[in-house]
Amino acid sequence: MRWKGRRVSSNVEDRRGGGGAKAGGISILGLVVAFVAWKFFGVDPQQAYQATKQVTSHSQVAETQGLDNPTPEQQEAMDFVGTVLADTEDTWTQVFQQQLNSQYVAPKLVMFSGVVNSGCGTAQSAMGPFYCPTDQKVYIDTAFFKDMRQQMGITGEQNTTELSRQDQAGDFAQAYVVAHEVGHHLQTLLGISEQVQKARAQSSEVQGNQLSVRQELQADCFAGIWANHNQQRTQFLEAGDVEEAMDAAHKIGDDYLQKRSTGQVVPDSFTHGSSAQRMQWFQTGLKSGQINDCDTFNQTI
Ligand SMILES: [Zn+2]
Repeated sequence: MRWKGRRVSSNVEDRRGGGGAKAGGISILGLVVAFVAWKFFGVDPQQAYQATKQVTSHSQVAETQGLDNPTPEQQEAMDFVGTVLADTEDTWTQVFQQQLNSQYVAPKLVMFSGVVNSGCGTAQSAMGPFYCPTDQKVYIDTAFFKDMRQQMGITGEQNTTELSRQDQAGDFAQAYVVAHEVGHHLQTLLGISEQVQKARAQSSEVQGNQLSVRQELQADCFAGIWANHNQQRTQFLEAGDVEEAMDAAHKIGDDYLQKRSTGQVVPDSFTHGSSAQRMQWFQTGLKSGQINDCDTFNQTI
């Protein structure tokens, strides 16, 4: 993926701190509830936060500042995320104008390490990246991208020698994760998240999970739309990039994660969609570039 030399967003907040945030004020009860909720709900922690919000909203995590002297690697991680965020800003501003005749309002993105205060409660890096609709911010933990390569094996290494992309192995998969979280921001702007939340309040757990899957698949489809238009704007894709994102979509599908953790697949508890579904909806957005084609709520998924 080509990303150097483009605009870097000014909407990135650096809260990586020096050596990790202090979890000073978190109550033990809050931590226990957060942990149980995280285990119960899986990787995307939105529901976990709702469950823990009441408990943790009174406690405070010491606010951390950005790194004083970032290493070149840390600076590069910041520049990369800032460039991807700027790409989403420029792309969605254009697409909102053209397809919806409305103005895009960009989210902020918080880079953190360890523990962070969000408008949705206190979050820990173990929960993975997330979007908080209350403060309209995307939260990305610096360790996540590293974990993503190591634990999930998203390395892109099969392509690196021919394409000499050693330094940027897995970069498009990482951009895809940022674009997916920005996809949840779009759902907030478009009023979709609110509708889903209302519908979930009146449905069974199984139905609620199905709604959650449709919401997640739409965020994947929006990430595909972003890739389509960003390609037209910047020609940023390189050979192997889409396969890399597909590989990521495969590895972060619920069935893959469940199989790895429990050895069996229980579709009713899926909250993100299967690997095949995630790949399919990313492709749908990528091919069409049209918001209307991402109506995962009224189409067969
Ligand atoms: Zn998501």
